[in-house]
Amino acid sequence: MKRFAVLLTGLFSMGLLILSNCGTVPITGRRQLNLVSDGEILAASATQYRQFINQSHISNNGTYNAKVTQVGRRLAAATNTFLKQNGYESMLSSLSWEFNVVDSKQVNAFCMPGGKIVVYTGLLNLVGNGAHSDDELAAVMGHELSHALAKHANERISNQMLVQAGGQLLGAAVGSRSQMLGSLINQAYGIGAQVGVMLPFGRKQEYEADKMGLVLMAMAGYDPRYAVSFWQKMAQSKGGNQTNELLSTHPSDANRIKAIEEYLPTALQYYQGGSSRESTGRTTSTTKKRGTSREVSANDIGSYLNGR
Ligand SMILES: [Zn+2]
Repeated sequence: MKRFAVLLTGLFSMGLLILSNCGTVPITGRRQLNLVSDGEILAASATQYRQFINQSHISNNGTYNAKVTQVGRRLAAATNTFLKQNGYESMLSSLSWEFNVVDSKQVNAFCMPGGKIVVYTGLLNLVGNGAHSDDELAAVMGHELSHALAKHANERISNQMLVQAGGQLLGAAVGSRSQMLGSLINQAYGIGAQVGVMLPFGRKQEYEADKMGLVLMAMAGYDPRYAVSFWQKMAQSKGGNQTNELLSTHPSDANRIKAIEEYLPTALQYYQGGSSRESTGRTTSTTKKRGTSREVSANDIGSYLNGR
């Protein structure tokens, strides 16, 4: 009986914990579970990112660095503007953007919480230097950035804590807690001791990041239609001597590409047709829709997604 009461109390406090630890994903408006505070996730991510950068070979390819920085800055500016205009100002202080190009054959890119972006030269080689290579790069960077913006790592760690940690992390002392968090984050991004063992995000998170990424790239002045050609390129890149880490965690199957194509009309409403392309860094979330100016609204996209 006593054990039952303990179990009940446990379940009750777990329930309270879940109820009091929900957040909302910007753009899609989806409710999610966050058991670890943003502060803890950001601190652990910043540490792991710094460690990874210090241990990696940073590319000195001027073209690649300029490309990644330019696309990254425009995506970051669009994201900041969107957050400001849609009641997510409180998230701005958690974003401290950083862009790095790592010299590696791996076809990969990621964005850690806080806006810490890495693009591997293997991926830039695959994207190439074509007329729409910036649009394609914006597609993958926008997708990765969206995982961070939607706090997908926090959500996954929270779920892992519920399922397997059995409260181990919840009750751990501060020191061992941040160590555990650090290794969970490394695992999430395939860095650290277990290089290459990247845990894929869930299907729901992948599709969400695809949609958010399309909107953000469009707001930053990149043509979202090139997300399709990017994922097709990924699908065709199977084989060869490169390690396609991104493809292993992001299967570019027909369903994924179809879902992107279906969402394009919505994303295109936020695209100015490239008129702001030349003005680096100038981004706005006021876009033209059939000749009329309109403000991007979180609800527009949120209600579209919820209606599906
Ligand atoms: Zn992804």
